[in-house]
Amino acid sequence: MSHPWLADRMAHFDSSGIRKVFDLAAKMKNPINLSIGQPDFAVPEAIQNAAIDAIRGNKNGYSQTQGIAPLREKLLEQARREFGNDRDLFITSGTSGGLVLAMLAIANPDDEVIVFDPFFVMYPSLVKLTGAKMVTIDTYPDFRIDVDRVRAAITSKTKAILFNSPANPTGVTATESEIRDLARLAAEKNVALVSDEIYRAFIYDEPFISPAKFNPQTIVIDGFSKGYGLTGWRLGFAHGPPEVIQAMAKLQQYTFVCAPQPFQWAGIAALDVDMTPHIDDYRRKRDRIVAGLSDHYELATPGGAFYAFPKAPWGTGTEFVAAAIERELLIIPGGIFSGRDTHFRISYAAPDAVIDRGIEVLRSIAKR
Ligand code: PMP
Repeated sequence: MSHPWLADRMAHFDSSGIRKVFDLAAKMKNPINLSIGQPDFAVPEAIQNAAIDAIRGNKNGYSQTQGIAPLREKLLEQARREFGNDRDLFITSGTSGGLVLAMLAIANPDDEVIVFDPFFVMYPSLVKLTGAKMVTIDTYPDFRIDVDRVRAAITSKTKAILFNSPANPTGVTATESEIRDLARLAAEKNVALVSDEIYRAFIYDEPFISPAKFNPQTIVIDGFSKGYGLTGWRLGFAHGPPEVIQAMAKLQQYTFVCAPQPFQWAGIAALDVDMTPHIDDYRRKRDRIVAGLSDHYELATPGGAFYAFPKAPWGTGTEFVAAAIERELLIIPGGIFSGRDTHFRISYAAPDAVIDRGIEVLRSIAKR
């Protein structure tokens, strides 16, 4: 792709890897699709109805850039109860929107931003968009956060650490001590800690802990996409130090403008819906994947989100995924999320029957 009008920064955006997988999927007759990063359950009816009522009630215009007051106040109250009163909050256009605004608000060209490898696909592009330099910290093979390595990577140019637990693509959740030490290190070094908490609802073995518990300056980026299965509604929120949040909101005013208003009203209804049965269901899916694969694959036990990230038992991640795709199993090569091409990502946000077919294929191709 090259055209004289395209800006130099476009050279940093390469979505060809993931597009290749989706192009292949489109050609398959009966794919075993374990590649999708969104829940397979329907939006609960009460939330659907609230969206429909808002649309029918003519709540279709712009909202204030910081979001409609009743949703913002409810979320702010919740955030202050959890992390203290010195926080502000605004509604964003998805978690992605919040991440874009956070990075644009804090990173200067030539700043360094620390990212853990493997990382969510969007992070490298986000960092490069600001002109900053991404500094990766390798977390293989168990995907644990080694805070001493973070300390060693911090320089006078380090502006931010981008942190995500439960994590995409590994499903690994950081322990309380990892989170505490990371949060305190960021505070000690006066580095912005940006915590992407989109998977906070999907945590299976222990309660969710935010680094904001240990470092009240943490910038938390969260959203409704995954927890309520409404990724297309583009509803997120961010909370943190008031000056940073207000800067982000100012940028939103001149970019995204606001999150879609009808879905903000639906967000209020969502806060009253108990999603525990779905989470319990996903915990069982997690157990199913781990039980089905751990005797054939090297696999760090996923404690959250809906991903597993096994090591390819032979070949590179790309070669192994090609063999899976020949058997109609759609998974994603790890190189898309990493400097290494040694693993692959499974999303178990799928019906049990699909998961079982996927496990069957993976067991049969584990030995070349
Ligand atoms: N962060 C992570 C770690 C994600 O996996 C995703 C979605 N795949 C997002 C952010 C973006 O979520 P949203 O739909 O709210 O923009």
